[in-house]
Amino acid sequence: MPTISTVLGQMDTSKMGFTLMHEHLLITSAGIKDVFPDFIPRQAAMQEAVRRLNEAKTEGISTIVDLTTMDLGRDIRLIEYVSRVTGVNIIAATGTWLEIPRAFRTADPEDISRLYIREIKEGIEGTGIRAGVIKVANDVGGVTEAGEIILRAAARAQKATRVPIITHTWAPERVGDQQIRIFESEGVELNRVCIGHSNDTTDLDYLTGLLKKGAWVGFDRYPSHRPDVPDWRVRTQTLKALMDAGWTHRLMVSHDDPMTMLIAPKAVFAERIKRNPDHICFIKRHVLPYLRELGATDDQIRLLVVTNPRSFFEGAT
Ligand SMILES: [Zn+2]
Repeated sequence: MPTISTVLGQMDTSKMGFTLMHEHLLITSAGIKDVFPDFIPRQAAMQEAVRRLNEAKTEGISTIVDLTTMDLGRDIRLIEYVSRVTGVNIIAATGTWLEIPRAFRTADPEDISRLYIREIKEGIEGTGIRAGVIKVANDVGGVTEAGEIILRAAARAQKATRVPIITHTWAPERVGDQQIRIFESEGVELNRVCIGHSNDTTDLDYLTGLLKKGAWVGFDRYPSHRPDVPDWRVRTQTLKALMDAGWTHRLMVSHDDPMTMLIAPKAVFAERIKRNPDHICFIKRHVLPYLRELGATDDQIRLLVVTNPRSFFEGAT
């Protein structure tokens, strides 16, 4: 039976159930939890994550992928605690987000990939808790020189471990195309890659291009994190258009709505919480019913939230 690394140990993939592919329990910045821990409301963040995950669990969500990397202040013991208390399976990430450490910006991708491989094979920060996914991020302006180093490091860690990659992109600039070009040049099997944040665009030509290349596509920003990108209904209409074009088996969903976030001004984060009181139940409560209204069947919805995440982690074709 295929297994995946969760923060509580190896788990049979058949136990994943309803899975959200891109979430965060707590995001801060690298190093703060060790040097200035009083800056982080850790107890409150833990309680908030427990409350949110208990609520999600009641509504049938059983697994989340927490894509918080070291440069987002990943706190692996906090993630482990929350999973243990709530019983929600959590898959943790290695890799790097946009705040690439200065020491990595001129490093050899091979040296960075060894660090990722260690987090996947041996564990994170000496805990023995193994990463189950690799995260990379490129945003507005596309892949920078340092971003390319990280992509190549991720590609090599993927090839060495078979663990999949989930990316952060800026879809309005078709940044997924650039990521794919680099993964291809490294010989990564694109079936092991999910191009994330793809629902920040309605460009079906771009999205279909990613799918035709063989990558998975993440509709993993819900409801909508800023006013200049499609709202949640338009996102869902785009999702349905791809489903109607025959791609239901290659699409996955999530919110990317952090439960506690210290990298935005307090007022901005408070506003975000106010805008989405459903938090990580938004998809369950609004997107899936709207998809049904648009004509999606229960079988199709099951593919999006149960079967596809499992196939993605299993590396099934
Ligand atoms: Zn994210």
